Amino acid sequence: MGYAHRVDGERKIHLKDFDPHGHADVGREEAEEKTARLCEEMTELQEMLYAASQHSVLIVLQGRDTSGKDGTIRKVTGPLNAQGCGVSSFKVPTSEELAHDFLWRVHAKAPARGQIRIFNRSHYEDVLVVRVHQLVPEKAWRARYDHINRFEELLTDSGAIILKFYLHISRKEQEQRLLEREQDPTKSWKLSTSDWQEREYWGAYTEAYEDAISRCSTSHAPWHIVPADRKWFRNLAVAETIVEALRPCKKGWLAHLEEIGRREKAAIAELRRNHASAPPHP
Ligand code: AMP
Ligand code: MG
Repeated sequence: MGYAHRVDGERKIHLKDFDPHGHADVGREEAEEKTARLCEEMTELQEMLYAASQHSVLIVLQGRDTSGKDGTIRKVTGPLNAQGCGVSSFKVPTSEELAHDFLWRVHAKAPARGQIRIFNRSHYEDVLVVRVHQLVPEKAWRARYDHINRFEELLTDSGAIILKFYLHISRKEQEQRLLEREQDPTKSWKLSTSDWQEREYWGAYTEAYEDAISRCSTSHAPWHIVPADRKWFRNLAVAETIVEALRPCKKGWLAHLEEIGRREKAAIAELRRNHASAPPHP
């Protein structure tokens, strides 16, 4: 079993069954070394993904405020080649976005074949914050779990590899991180009264996350619960999950690239033969 907990069948999960502080007996130094090696392998796999252009990769990062979505993007996917990788952050919808269905703005950001795209928050906000604050009627958000499953199936049918991560932090760790932000001037841009207000809804968010993870974990688009109180273990778990999902594709990508090479070499040889037999230019 990997360092993150994969949920891929429709069964009810309870977050209290997962330890946010867990580290699978791995120490910090070992975790950082392993993460570095995994990130190197990830960049090699990315190059093949890009060249073969048969699949795309969608990485969904969800978690409460301060759970480490930004840090994961910096530390785990930071080393990727920017040419084949992008991040989309989903904020409070604009009035134009609200005038469309909830997946409209999300579908537009789905990765093209050959590309990796990271969602910093995602369409899941439409069954999380929207549910907790009743921003639409219950009937509307309840219908969204099925919409999401069908949408993700459409993406995977079109070649997407979807990896969804819930960064699982404890209430205590969140408090510490929020207080740290107040002490560190380089982090003050992240200060927000809404983080303290949202903390009041801890239980409602727990229920919303448990339902989202339980209802939208499918074999084609599983959720991964990541113990995230220790940043270095969180990085290791996310890096490992990404690499293990891509590794099995490597053989197929290489075979496809060799096929392209053979075809192009034959075309070049044909061109040279035609040149050699053609009369010289007047
Ligand atoms: P941050 O990630 O700190 O930049 O904050 C983005 C804010 O946008 C969070 O408070 C999210 O809950 C909020 N947000 C994202 N998507 C939605 C949505 N579909 N409806 C309402 N609020 C959203
Ligand atoms: Mg925030």
